[in-house]
Amino acid sequence: MVVNKADFAGKVEKIVGAKNLILSEAQRRSSSKDCYHFSPVLVPQLEEKFADVIARPQTQDQLRDLIGCAAAHRIPITPRGAGTGNYGQGVPLRGGLMISTRDLNKIIEITTDEARVEAGVILQDIEKAAESVSAELRCFPSTMPTSHTGGFISGGSGGIGSIQWGMLREADNVRHARVLTIEEEPKFIDLERSQLGGVLHNCGLTCFVSEVTLGLAPLVRWQQYVIAFDDLYSALAAAEKIAFDDGMKKRLVTVFEWPIPSYFIPLVKKGAMPDGKSVLFLYTDEAPDFIGDLAAGLGGHITFHEPPKTSVKRGTQIYDYTWNHTTQWAMKADPQLTYLQDRFSNEPGRVAEQIRERKKLFPEVLEHIEFIKDGGVVVPGALSIVRFSSKDRLWELIDWCENNGIRVANPHTHFLDEDTRWYGDEHLARKREWDPYALLNPGHLLVMEHQTAPSDS
Ligand SMILES: Cc1cc2nc3c(=O)[nH]c(=O)nc-3n(C[C@H](O)[C@H](O)[C@H](O)COP(=O)(O)OP(=O)(O)OC[C@H]3O[C@@H](n4cnc5c(N)ncnc54)[C@H](O)[C@@H]3O)c2cc1C
Repeated sequence: MVVNKADFAGKVEKIVGAKNLILSEAQRRSSSKDCYHFSPVLVPQLEEKFADVIARPQTQDQLRDLIGCAAAHRIPITPRGAGTGNYGQGVPLRGGLMISTRDLNKIIEITTDEARVEAGVILQDIEKAAESVSAELRCFPSTMPTSHTGGFISGGSGGIGSIQWGMLREADNVRHARVLTIEEEPKFIDLERSQLGGVLHNCGLTCFVSEVTLGLAPLVRWQQYVIAFDDLYSALAAAEKIAFDDGMKKRLVTVFEWPIPSYFIPLVKKGAMPDGKSVLFLYTDEAPDFIGDLAAGLGGHITFHEPPKTSVKRGTQIYDYTWNHTTQWAMKADPQLTYLQDRFSNEPGRVAEQIRERKKLFPEVLEHIEFIKDGGVVVPGALSIVRFSSKDRLWELIDWCENNGIRVANPHTHFLDEDTRWYGDEHLARKREWDPYALLNPGHLLVMEHQTAPSDS
């Protein structure tokens, strides 16, 4: 059925009410963006793309009715959390309806072991609620003060905590999701852990996630440390020792090559980032004396320590400078900087060699390494900072990495099937099953761009 934009907006208004509908062009433009501006390659491709209508359902029933209405009229649908996705995967390329989960923000149940929440619950709110039952999130992105739970499981991969608990898709970090199919009569489907293929990291392509159950960890009293070293390779060797030490509890093990620490202005002001030093960021429950001795034995010294918080206030969190927040601080200091999402070899010692080889050919790269556990194995992941000169040079760097044992999840393409983030046939099978008219987030899958348009029948 063909419907014009004004008629469709009228139908949406009947479902959510005028105050939960965004029609002004300025607001639709700004609310349709995510954090693709981290990539100078994506900016010109995506900056003119925006939704025709943005709606904020207040209940799960309204969410279902919105999807049903859009499906009946074959209107594209883009799910939206906080919009912190960093490679344009949440930008509506074909206009249509953007559905924000902002107001689907009920914590349904929380126990010491798990949290069942609506998709729009902000991760920081789960962390706060978990604290009251002596629990905490297992892993979260550095955007946790804003990211929605549905957005994280759909668009993210892991983060702070992944050195202990692994990435989002591992073990039972995500235990259940309730999803909606994209049909005239959308169906809610409850999926257990073993059925989440095609849901985790689906980037709004296969289904609309309406509820999530996350596994929680027992609460730990984390101490935060910054440890400075004379050079990158000493910082890296120390980080490897700590990361591979199964006996030490950790939430974060990060290495920054100088001058990246100089971009973290608030920490520079605290004297935590001495001139010319590469640094290691660490969350552990070990006491300062122990970490001080360990650091000295490894050639470093503590430049910042924050004991576990004693009030309800969030206080300083050095993870605010890690993961992709590092890129944000770097771009603030120098707009020519961008990044890669890469992963070194997990052979101990090999990462230093890979870095040395890469530096000879690509001096524009600065090292930012995040240790994680993937498949139970500790791996040096990275969000390397890169001085951008041209797309060709960036692609040359990516090719060199891929050919030299450094895996790259290319954050400079919005096509999910163009790199290692893509989960392949499982996602495609789910998309066909749950989104038969291919209305969800169209334009972000190359394989579908090459197919004929789906039939209306
Ligand atoms: C500064 C910065 C730091 C970051 N740090 C990390 C990090 O540490 N770890 C990490 O993994 N990621 C990180 N990211 C990426 C991003 O923050 C995460 O992916 C984040 O959790 C996304 O949540 P969101 O609510 O902002 O999702 P959005 O950006 O709104 O959405 C992300 C994707 O999921 C889809 N989506 C959203 N909600 C739903 C839903 N309910 N159902 C189906 N699809 C949906 C969207 O269409 C989009 O494709 C970072 C990004 C930035 C800009």
